[in-house]
Amino acid sequence: MTNVHNWQIGREMNYPYPAAFPRRQFAFVFNINRCIACQSCTMACKSTWTFNKGQEHMWWANVETKPYGGYPHFWDAKILDLLEQANPANQQWSGKPSADKKKPYGQFDGKTIFEAQNMLTTDSARVLGYLPTDEEWNSPNIFEDNPVGKAGVRNELHKEGTALPEHNTWFFYLARICNHCSYPACLAACPRKAIYKRPEDGIVLIDQSQCRGYRKCVEACPYKKSMYRGNTRVSEKCVACYPRVEGKDPESGGQPMETRCMAACIGQIRMQGLVKMNNDGIWAEDRYNPLYYMVHVAKVALPLYPQFGTEPNGYYIPPRWVPRPYLRQMFGPGVDAAVEKYAAPDRELLAVLQLFGKDSRICYRYEIKQGPKVFETTIRGKKFELFDDTITGFAKDGSKILEMKVEEPFHVRDAKHANSI
Ligand code: SF4
Ligand code: SF4
Repeated sequence: MTNVHNWQIGREMNYPYPAAFPRRQFAFVFNINRCIACQSCTMACKSTWTFNKGQEHMWWANVETKPYGGYPHFWDAKILDLLEQANPANQQWSGKPSADKKKPYGQFDGKTIFEAQNMLTTDSARVLGYLPTDEEWNSPNIFEDNPVGKAGVRNELHKEGTALPEHNTWFFYLARICNHCSYPACLAACPRKAIYKRPEDGIVLIDQSQCRGYRKCVEACPYKKSMYRGNTRVSEKCVACYPRVEGKDPESGGQPMETRCMAACIGQIRMQGLVKMNNDGIWAEDRYNPLYYMVHVAKVALPLYPQFGTEPNGYYIPPRWVPRPYLRQMFGPGVDAAVEKYAAPDRELLAVLQLFGKDSRICYRYEIKQGPKVFETTIRGKKFELFDDTITGFAKDGSKILEMKVEEPFHVRDAKHANSI
């Protein structure tokens, strides 16, 4: 084990290999508030990568309904439970979210999956994990739309369940892919060294010719995004649509392009990027990169279960109606500020949110041209102003890929076409 710095948990931690960071890192932000569970992303991935014999149970991209849904079933509850067994009542954060880029969410004082393994068992595995049963990989959409009801009363919902800031009756959709982690648990656990992280974009891949199907990666990945294929007897995982990210898709004109699941998203909840990394693994300052802005400036997008310790590169704008303790467990101590910011966004955030889902080419930089104020109101006691600003996004080569106004046009269907589909 070596000591590496994990900025998401604000401290050094143990990891089996020395830290090595890519020049740019594949990363994404999903805005959960907008997801409608249409599963277009899921099917875009399925029809591109996992439509063959032996892959029937594989959903590299999936959308589950929280808190009860999960693919595989209860994946997060199970690993959280194992960590709690290893380190009872000590899986806690200390300090406060701050401007320190080495510990923006405070410090996680509990144990990560790399540190808790030898506290729970004496076996030689490098990572705390478990192998899901075959049944747990079935029914990827189990519990869809099942809300949390009244505690202890079967099938009863709260009568006044929809008042913000927190709903009593709630659920939300959690869209997931592999997080192409900075400290991948799959890679750490592989006895064959068949898993590698690409230096150019941080995408984590399994070398199929080296894999012998021991399933150590499946056991170790806390997000359960490495999967075993029975008919080839090797493991497979999300490849981040790397030919598109490399700009090899003929439609992109040579520019890096978002993955299939991002481009297919009907709800326009997804934005993917390739963020600049410093040698120490901290994101390099890139003020007008939309992902840098959302993660490090507005701090409205947070990592999924940072306490696992893999430094996932998937970030989420948390659903604002969900009880905060549940969200804090899932996204860490930055949740309260992130929800507040999203509930009453300033003019820069409103403009950046317009970039989501408008063009398949990856946006490297944006510019905002200020426009007139068009609306003002009060949101839960706070003044809110809407400005009709214009945001422009630029591709890797500096060419303009899109221009959007904050105030969206209002289209009225011609009366002669009303209800005439
Ligand atoms: S999410 Fe899982 S499979 Fe993906 S890189 Fe991280 S540990 Fe590996
Ligand atoms: S395509 Fe977008 S809106 Fe539809 S389920 Fe997937 S993430 Fe949600």
